[in-house]
Amino acid sequence: MSIPHIPLAATEADARARDAADPLRGFRDEFLIPPALDPSLGEDTQFYFTGNSLGLQPRGIREALLTELDDWARLGVEAHFHGRHPWMPYHEEVRAHLAEIAGALPSEVVAMNSLTTNLHLMMVGFYRPTAERHAILIEAGAFPSDQYAVASQIRFHGFDPATSLIEVEGDPDTGLIGMERIERALAEHGSKIALVLWPGVQYRTGEAFDLKAIAALAHARGAVAGFDLAHAAGNLKLALHDADADFAAWCSYKYLNAGPGAIAGCFVHERHARTDRPRFAGWWGHDPASRFRMGPDFVPTPGADGWQLSNPPIMALAPLRASLEVFHRAGMDRLRAKAIDLTAYLEALIRSRLHGVIDILTPSDRDRRGCQLSLRVVGGRARGRALFEHLATRGIIGDWREPDVIRVAPTPLYNRFIDAWKLVESIATWRDTAG
Ligand SMILES: *Cc1c(COP(=O)(O)O)cnc(C)c1O
Repeated sequence: MSIPHIPLAATEADARARDAADPLRGFRDEFLIPPALDPSLGEDTQFYFTGNSLGLQPRGIREALLTELDDWARLGVEAHFHGRHPWMPYHEEVRAHLAEIAGALPSEVVAMNSLTTNLHLMMVGFYRPTAERHAILIEAGAFPSDQYAVASQIRFHGFDPATSLIEVEGDPDTGLIGMERIERALAEHGSKIALVLWPGVQYRTGEAFDLKAIAALAHARGAVAGFDLAHAAGNLKLALHDADADFAAWCSYKYLNAGPGAIAGCFVHERHARTDRPRFAGWWGHDPASRFRMGPDFVPTPGADGWQLSNPPIMALAPLRASLEVFHRAGMDRLRAKAIDLTAYLEALIRSRLHGVIDILTPSDRDRRGCQLSLRVVGGRARGRALFEHLATRGIIGDWREPDVIRVAPTPLYNRFIDAWKLVESIATWRDTAG
């Protein structure tokens, strides 16, 4: 789907016209937008740009949770079979929509645990270091949890992160990495790399990566390709199966809007469906046909399901079910098309009105970014903090990254062109008065 290019007119009326023409505009009403902190400023709601950190609440989630509480009250244990959404096969109810998000076969995805837990479980199977091939390749400045996870896995196997953790440095100014640096690192260290663990979108810079190209490079060097899609799931249009990723994991509270600490997602490529790689096992990974014989030997369910440990938390799956249903109706194609437009609009406004105030770190190429723009405030930390606080007091919510970066993510489900307009307008006012 292609959206006609509308030439930029830097006016509020133009932003409102874009919203009026947006085929997805109705989806905003399905979300609870936090009310303005100071209604005397004339706005009812906040301008929320942190869907990349905690997505807003879909209205349907309350009902989905109440349904499960009521069925528990009404049916007790029988709700496993006779609830409106029977608990026994409950995780099946999110499978199809999760597969749409991941660009995967239904059997390749499962909702379970949390992101860091899933990264560890995946590494148990897919990081099998040997004396020759022991290294993990990640991006420099990776999200701390990922750094801790890979370093602890390396130590767990008796190796030393000082020699077995290889970090690809980005551009010293912007932090952007690009394919050439990844290629160079693989060319230089390929024979000792066991696992490439790469982000779909880098959390700090907003740089998006070509997962298929990275998987191909990793495989050509004899390494496994795993992806952390925390900032990519529900943001980019993913095609994990075709990308030939070995595994992937993501959280569901950022773009996926399933609530704080939501149950995470995991992908295991079909070609590993019947793998005999080692894994940490639990009864919910056991083949359901014989699970309740309660036998002593673990027989894994083929596919991603075989990596589950415990019976799933229904109170965590219910929000995910409700949230993914919204994504299904909106469709990732349409969401991505709007996101490309909305982010490009914000970028164009910043470039035309905030020259010398804001530098955009995130790539301009739409194929190298999702919704997020990482904005560096020119003039350093103190000025950056002052701007960040100016925005916050006006109900414009981004997030701060040391030393001078404000991340903003206009998401296509509930953000509007007028939100982008207000953000830029507010920064321009700050520059003209305080800044
Ligand atoms: C948000 C995020 C996490 C958070 O991990 P949890 O296990 O969900 O707490 C980890 N890694 C990346 C890259 C993230 O963006």
